Formats: sequence, C-alpha cells, structure tokens
Amino acid sequence: MSSADFLTDFHHVATIGATPRHGVDRQAATAEDAQSRAWFSKWVADAGYTLHVDGIGNMFGLIEWTPGAPYVLIGSHLDSQPLGGRFDGAYGVLAALHAARNVDELATKSATRPPFNLAVVNWFNEEGGRFAPSVMGSSVFVGLFDQEKMLDTTDLAGVTARAALAEIGYLGTDPRPVTVSYAEIHIEQGRILERENIAIGVVDRSWYTQKLDIEVLGEQSHTGATAMADRHDALVAAAKIILMVREVTTDFAEEAIVSSVGQLTLEPNSPIVVARRVRLVADLRSGDPAIVQAARATLLEKIAALAVEHDIKINVTDFDIRPIRYFPENGLQLAEQAAGRAGLSTRRIQTMAGHDSVAMNTIVPSIMLFIPSVDGVSHCEREFTTDADMVAGLALLTEVATDLVNGALVDPALLDPALSPALASSARA
Ligand SMILES: [Zn+2]
Repeated sequence: MSSADFLTDFHHVATIGATPRHGVDRQAATAEDAQSRAWFSKWVADAGYTLHVDGIGNMFGLIEWTPGAPYVLIGSHLDSQPLGGRFDGAYGVLAALHAARNVDELATKSATRPPFNLAVVNWFNEEGGRFAPSVMGSSVFVGLFDQEKMLDTTDLAGVTARAALAEIGYLGTDPRPVTVSYAEIHIEQGRILERENIAIGVVDRSWYTQKLDIEVLGEQSHTGATAMADRHDALVAAAKIILMVREVTTDFAEEAIVSSVGQLTLEPNSPIVVARRVRLVADLRSGDPAIVQAARATLLEKIAALAVEHDIKINVTDFDIRPIRYFPENGLQLAEQAAGRAGLSTRRIQTMAGHDSVAMNTIVPSIMLFIPSVDGVSHCEREFTTDADMVAGLALLTEVATDLVNGALVDPALLDPALSPALASSARA
C-alpha cells in the first residue's frame, strides 16, 4: 500500500472548490460538487471498479470478487458546508478508496476470495447546507427518508434537489448494492482525541438532536416613517430568540447541551423596511434526551411570552429529531482489535455531529472511527488534521474493511452459499 498516493489524492481533491484560506466550498449538487464527483468517477474507472449512481445521487464504486454476493460499504461524503473545511467527509471517502484498493490487492493475491464484495460510497448531501435535512443520501438509502420527498426539497433559490442533481448529471437510476455492513472514518470535529493524545476514537453512540423551525411574523412598515410604538418588528423578536437559544444551555452542566441558531432568513430584507417575517432554525443536541426536552420546554415558554410582549405571532415547529443510536459492541471491539494490530491507541467516544454511519447503523452493523482534529474546529476553513494522523486512519480502515469482507459482524447464515442467490436476486429487485 502507498500512503504517498493517498496523500497526493487527498491534497488534490482539496483543490476542488478551494477557498482563499485553505477551505473548500462544495455544496451538494453544485458545479464544485460535480467536479469532485467527476474525480471520484475517474478514480473508480481507472482502478477497474464499477460505478453505480442511485436515484438520490449516491455514488458507489463496486469491487466484485464473488459474483452475486452482497457488499460491505465503506465511505463518507465529498460535499461540504459553504466555506467549509477540506477534511470533513472528503477524508473518509479518500481513505475508503485507498483502503478498498489495499484490500483488493490483498484479495487478488490470496488463494481464496473474500465471501463479501466491497463498495466505496460517496453519499449525497451529508451536510444539509443547501438542501435540508442533512445526512440525506444515506437516510434515503436506509429508508429513514422518502426519496421523492427529498428530491422535492428546495434550496434558498427555489431549485429542487432533483433539478440540481439532474443538472450536474447525477440523478442516477442504478440499483443500490445489497449491504451487510458499513464502516466510515471521519475527523473528530472536537478536541477530545487531541487533548488526550489518542490516535483513534471508536464511536459508541450518537447524541440526541432536535431542531426547531421558528417563524416570527411581524408587520412590514417604513423604518423611517413608522412611530416606534407602532412597529411589530419581526427581526427584533428573532434577535431575542437567538440569544434565548444560546442562554438556555446555561441552565445545565457545562457541555451537557449545545445549541445555536445557524440559519436565518429575513423578509423583505430591505434597508428601509421593518421586517415582516423572519425564519430561523435552532439546533439543540445533548447526550441526554431529557436535557434537550427540558431546554425545548423552556424555549417554548419564553418564546410564547415574547410573542405577547411584542404583539406578534411566532410559530415553532419541531423537526429533524434524531434519537441516540448505539453502535454494536462487537463492531467496537473489532475496531479496537484492528487498531491494536496497527499499533494505534483508541478510546470510545460519542458523536455530537450527525454522520452517514448513524443512518447506516439502523439497517446493518456499522463502525464509526474518528481521527484527531487540530484545535477541534470544523465546518470552517481553519479545520485541520495532520498527514500522519490521516495515514494512520487509512491503515486502520484497511484492517477493518479486511475483517468485514471476510464476514466479521455478519450473521453467519448470510455466509451460507445456499442463501447467496436469494440475496443476489433481492439486490436486482
Ligand atoms: Zn462530515
């Protein structure tokens, strides 16, 4: 295996949609996303693997050693936040491509072929910056989200995900691989591994998350001519809500809950008009669902009081509620043993961020691995991870993928050759 080839590829992909301060801007189904997809397609073709694109724009590079056998999936996402970092998602896809090639080289040299095939996946719209909700492609793949409904979602300019994918040529029709297990490696996006000087985080569960869609309805009027007492300023009320969403976290222990308003749209957004409507999205997350519920209850109470105080209407809708999900214990142990063989230190860790692996874990045993993030920053241009940490993660993913294609974590019944034809036919259905 060549870590130099991996690093060359990684740093090349970081130039696609590059921003002035070393970040990338490759939002889902944009021209920049199309460029990174073209790079992925070419890599897969050059390696001699088969490319499939499904109906929600997920891309699969398929390596078939055993005709008709189901697949182990490894991968992540190449899309980014606006002015995002070059490691978030892209590292996991690049590591998966190179891990797949490493496994393929070992498999073709060996006398016996692995019982399961291997596919590298680039999931559509993990970030959710342009089309909400996030983790879209993998959630459709596992059936948590409805494909047609997701294709109908629109960006702020009113373009549907369907039209955007068609425009860049990635509204596919290929069948999805039948999958038996999944592994993903990603940057931590926090500072626990760095602080403790540990090479690998083995993710044992995801945080409880929920969003609040908040619509503040005031009254449009002249910013110059309207008397102050007569104004029903939606933006002033929205500003107070933004602060409430932050301050509610201080009701709980430090770091027990995190929250922010990350999106705000303003109508009519004219310098001489008092805002009539503001829509904002609050994102609340905790390792304990009861804490999120308590914070939500406090916010609803305060927002109701604010509406009375300002004599305006405020609608609050719950959406994108994601329960805590646990990764399987045998997968955690597999990852820890593989890290031991690769000489890498590990600790168990929770993920506060959403990931495609969390969706995949609802249908097949999944493994989620973290490598350290310098200063713990992410979703910004300053995001950074060292080459050495990336290469160590690649070695681990190669070990893990090797175990998985040889049947680790899989129900032994699926290894029975008599069952393979049935699985193969369900793949074509
Ligand atoms: Zn990511």
